[in-house]
Amino acid sequence: MKKREFKAESKRLLDLMINSIYTNKDIFLRELISNASDAIDKLYYKSLTEKNISISKDELNIRIDIDKENRKIVISDNGCGMTDSELENNLGTIAKSGSLAFKQENEEQEDVNIIGQFGVGFYSAFMVSKSIEVLSKSYGSDKAYLWKSSGEDGYTIEEATKDTNGTTITLNIKDDTEDVKYSDYLEEYKIRSIVKKYSDYIRYPIIMKVENRVLKEGSKDEYETVIEDNTLNSMTPIWKKNKNEITEEEYSNFYTDKFYDYEKPMKVMHTSVEGNCTYTSILFIPNHAPYDLYSKEYEKGLQLYSNDILIMDKCSELLPDYFNFVKGIVESPDLSLNISREMLQQDRKLQIIAKNIETKIKKELLDMLNDNREEYQKFFKTFGTQIKYGIYNDYGMNKEKLQDLLMFYSSNKKDYITLKEYIEQINEGQEVIYYACGETVDKIDMLPQVEQVKDEGYDILYLTEYVDEFVIKTLMNYENKNFVNICSKDVNLGDAKEKEKLEKINNKNKDMLSSMKEVLKDKIESVRFTNRLKNHPLCLTTEGDISIEMEKVINAMPTDEKIHAKTILEINENHPIAEKLIKLYKEDKDTFDKYTKILYSQARLIEGLTIENPTEISNIICELISK
Ligand code: ADP
Repeated sequence: MKKREFKAESKRLLDLMINSIYTNKDIFLRELISNASDAIDKLYYKSLTEKNISISKDELNIRIDIDKENRKIVISDNGCGMTDSELENNLGTIAKSGSLAFKQENEEQEDVNIIGQFGVGFYSAFMVSKSIEVLSKSYGSDKAYLWKSSGEDGYTIEEATKDTNGTTITLNIKDDTEDVKYSDYLEEYKIRSIVKKYSDYIRYPIIMKVENRVLKEGSKDEYETVIEDNTLNSMTPIWKKNKNEITEEEYSNFYTDKFYDYEKPMKVMHTSVEGNCTYTSILFIPNHAPYDLYSKEYEKGLQLYSNDILIMDKCSELLPDYFNFVKGIVESPDLSLNISREMLQQDRKLQIIAKNIETKIKKELLDMLNDNREEYQKFFKTFGTQIKYGIYNDYGMNKEKLQDLLMFYSSNKKDYITLKEYIEQINEGQEVIYYACGETVDKIDMLPQVEQVKDEGYDILYLTEYVDEFVIKTLMNYENKNFVNICSKDVNLGDAKEKEKLEKINNKNKDMLSSMKEVLKDKIESVRFTNRLKNHPLCLTTEGDISIEMEKVINAMPTDEKIHAKTILEINENHPIAEKLIKLYKEDKDTFDKYTKILYSQARLIEGLTIENPTEISNIICELISK
């Protein structure tokens, strides 16, 4: 028997492929099962058009048998089989796909549904096998042939005997190495789980003999081991069913099974698109965030199927980052699927599907916002942060797309509202959108600056999450209205007369105010009197881009870079403390300096900042008390 060389640089390719293309070894089984399913498809298809072929549909199946002792996995089908020249042509050349040729020849026939167009599928079995034997008998032929190869050094084909048509592939599983425990593939549970994961929706039964322990007949406590055939795959994918035939429960079960959730999803979106790019997608918004959503380990993505075979478990190209919490599947017969992720990324059809999916999710969320506010609020509480990141990331590239999905707490409504709703109820002549930042709604509500803005009838958005302010800064404005932090000096309330009066007071006490600034040195930019604090004695305001909240957030990050908000100490000119200061400045400069330090520390505490020199401040207070 002549040993034949693999054709066309196959050797090198084979090597390359085994070692690099498929990093996930499990998929060898998917490839072989797909081939078997294709082969049965082909025979079945032929039987429809050729009278002399009669097959019984019920008997079409794929078998997997494990021989642990001899380290063999046997995969057999009763499909079309291969002649010797087909064995030579199909398995002698890597990347020549027989399925593809068949599909092209029969392009007009609608019924042709051939899954394997990947070209190198069969050879992936060498990832786990020392050697492979393919025993095949073409339907209608009386001869069978045995193809053998150990990968690198070519293959042989010899005549053999086989009773029935179809192909039987025997894999001689590699010995375990330090890195890979190939023996795992000889375990029933392993095979079962790979089939479930990748080939659950293959149309033909995938049967494996399994050992079951059952009660002995007539006995109550004696068991015996029986070997039974077990069908591993469920065969009908939910997306093959008619949309209006699927019950809510079926969706829920599919979701919880597939995505390992214990709770049913908040929302199901089922879309079927036909035409240029045909696909079906079933998407789910979970009811709660996965525990690792905000960790680096979290992988977004949808399951991608082509003709009911899982191609990729988490196809990240199908989901934008800001919708990374969405789970689901996409099935498309149209994808020219290639094994590498890089090629998939460039696939135009995949890009179209991704675009459609994004639009669909957004529309669904806006609908939820309009039709079921309670549900939307729950959604936003769970996943809103992700949407916020979406606005802030990529230099705000997606801000327009996402801004209407945002919600913030409103001081007027005492509930969450959208930016659109803020604008809809805005006061006449109000040119800006007011916001304030803090740890909680209650804490913000207690900020000295809040009172006057509220009293003047303006609504304030309370930002309590640390990304919030970055979001606002990225948005810059909404419907031509700028965002203004009520704690910044940009707030411009009160009438002209009052402002003039305030300016006079500030001018008159210029020396005193700069003396306070001197005491506090570069901790603050300046000190001034204000008339916007109602009953509160003092506050810290900021000027420039960095707010106090931002300073807190950024300085809490584990980097060396520390930032400082430019702060101004404001003192309520209507509060008795103002008068006291003016008096002390003239009469007792030493106490005046001490008061200044205490007032500054108080202002920091109000803002949720720490006191920089607690011992000094504590000593001063005790000294003053003891007087
Ligand atoms: P692909 O499946 O992508 O075409 P493969 O390398 O997996 O590439 O298989 C090459 C060809 O070998 C297939 O196209 C098919 O014609 C043939 N083949 C593989 N497995 C079987 C099988 N079980 N029965 C019949 N033909 C098969």
